[in-house]
Amino acid sequence: MAYDPGNIFARILRGEIPCKTVYEDAFALAFHDIHPQAPVHVLVIPKGPYESMDDFTARASEAEIAGLFRAVAKVADLTGVTATGWRMLSNIGEHGHQEVPHLHIHVFGGRPLGRMIGKG
Ligand code: AMP
Repeated sequence: MAYDPGNIFARILRGEIPCKTVYEDAFALAFHDIHPQAPVHVLVIPKGPYESMDDFTARASEAEIAGLFRAVAKVADLTGVTATGWRMLSNIGEHGHQEVPHLHIHVFGGRPLGRMIGKG
């Protein structure tokens, strides 16, 4: 499927919609989720037009891939959850319940997070 440049995270990247930035570098932007599900709930997105982890790992450069994952760990550090532990999660496609078609990695923390997934 072709990347949709009208998706909400693409609009955030273009500055058309505001966000609460946590971290930004050449490869990634991290911002607070608008409906946080934990005391720390940050979304980390690549700056390039990638729909999902499938698309990203197929098309992105090594530098973009390293940059995104370094940004995820940087966000854990900046939000103070590195010592207590945290979770990263990326929803992909229909069964993954992906709502926004621009790759994003959720960073959760700030409380015990319980089991990995619900029963569905
Ligand atoms: P998902 O695609 O299911 O992994 O989740 C998309 C996430 O994006 C949800 O947690 C939403 O709360 C979040 N979200 C949607 N719009 C915005 C926005 N404008 N700013 C920040 N977070 C958003």
